[in-house]
Amino acid sequence: MGVATLDQVENQIARGFRYLQFSPEIEALFRKEYAAERVRLAVIWGVIGVFIYDLVYFGDRTMLPDVFNELLVVRFLVFTPFVIGCILAVRRWPDALLYDVLAVAIAVLGVTLPMAAATQSASSYLFVYQNGNSAAFLFFVIALRPRFFAVVIGLALLCASHFTTTRLTGAFDDVTYSGIITFYLTLSIFLAVSAYFLEQKDRQNFLNQLRGSLLYRQLERNAERDELTGLLNRRSLARVGEMLWNDAPRLAPVSAILLDIDHFKRFNDVHGHIEGDACIRAVSQCMRDTVDEASFVFRFGGEEMLVLVADREPLQALAMAERIRTAIERLGIAHRGLGNGCVTASLGVASALATETTLEKLLQNADAALYEAKHMGRNTVALASAPKVGAQVA
Ligand code: GH3
Ligand code: MG
Ligand code: MG
Repeated sequence: MGVATLDQVENQIARGFRYLQFSPEIEALFRKEYAAERVRLAVIWGVIGVFIYDLVYFGDRTMLPDVFNELLVVRFLVFTPFVIGCILAVRRWPDALLYDVLAVAIAVLGVTLPMAAATQSASSYLFVYQNGNSAAFLFFVIALRPRFFAVVIGLALLCASHFTTTRLTGAFDDVTYSGIITFYLTLSIFLAVSAYFLEQKDRQNFLNQLRGSLLYRQLERNAERDELTGLLNRRSLARVGEMLWNDAPRLAPVSAILLDIDHFKRFNDVHGHIEGDACIRAVSQCMRDTVDEASFVFRFGGEEMLVLVADREPLQALAMAERIRTAIERLGIAHRGLGNGCVTASLGVASALATETTLEKLLQNADAALYEAKHMGRNTVALASAPKVGAQVA
């Protein structure tokens, strides 16, 4: 599915949509949904329409017996296979324009074929016979329901075809003929106007639904994000953990990297909470930029961040933690509470096979490693139950 933002949809709702047309991004989504829905109904309407169309076989036999053979051919050997072909085509290539074009083609063919045979008939029932085409007009607009522009083109073609063929029968005097024209023109105008309002309503409903689903998605996203940093929040930890454990290959490890900013209480005391917040944001962004795409970064607590990643060997997780530590140090955020020092962080890493550990256990181990990193003098990475690397004193 293409993308439209909530802003674009709300703008469209506020602006309205003239000429039954949305902005390109929303129009593309509308066309896609329109095609999917019409194609789903195409089979049902195709079967019903062809069945009724072919039932007119009995009317052909009683009303136009002199061209009955021609009518048999056009109904069963031309029209029916054509409709089946159209249904297969839209199922194969579900596209709004293709649907509209084929809907018009079906209607025009359905009206023209029997009337073309009727032009050769000398039957006295031609007036009643041509009346039947009003059903085709209705079927085209109400059942096939193409978009408004196709309705207008289709109705114009249907009228042109019907008026020409009825004239060619030579069976009607001028008064009857103008009565036929008046009837079909009136019918077409009513149908076109109602098609316009129906499409407008459809489009309005589409916009409202799209807005609803985008709002819902935004709410879901917000509920999982930490407001200050934009990182995933603790609420989403269980969901992501479950996903990682379910998706992890059987013999692949999962890793947790727990980070805590060093001497942050002092940072707040010296720089104030506003700068403290900015520092947490900068460290979070730095972590985001440093980890790979498969990693999930959470704000775990106040100035504690967590990275969860699956399918990385313990040494790879350790290297990632070391990259994070170095990157934060390189930010060079001044920490006047440490003299000329700058902001650093300590990290604890834990890795285990997904099948042999739980999220809680992994976090406990990472926490223990973090404690150890602090104990070793901070600005350090420690691996749970393994030799430490990157030891460095602030
Ligand atoms: P250590 O090196 O041992 O981690 O020392 P520390 O001072 O960082 O100790 P600790 O991790 O216990 O301190 C956390 C501090 O982080 C306490 C609190 O004032 C601050 N903090 C927690 N959340 C926020 C926040 O959202 N904004 C700001 N500005 N400060 C926060
Ligand atoms: Mg802390
Ligand atoms: Mg701290």
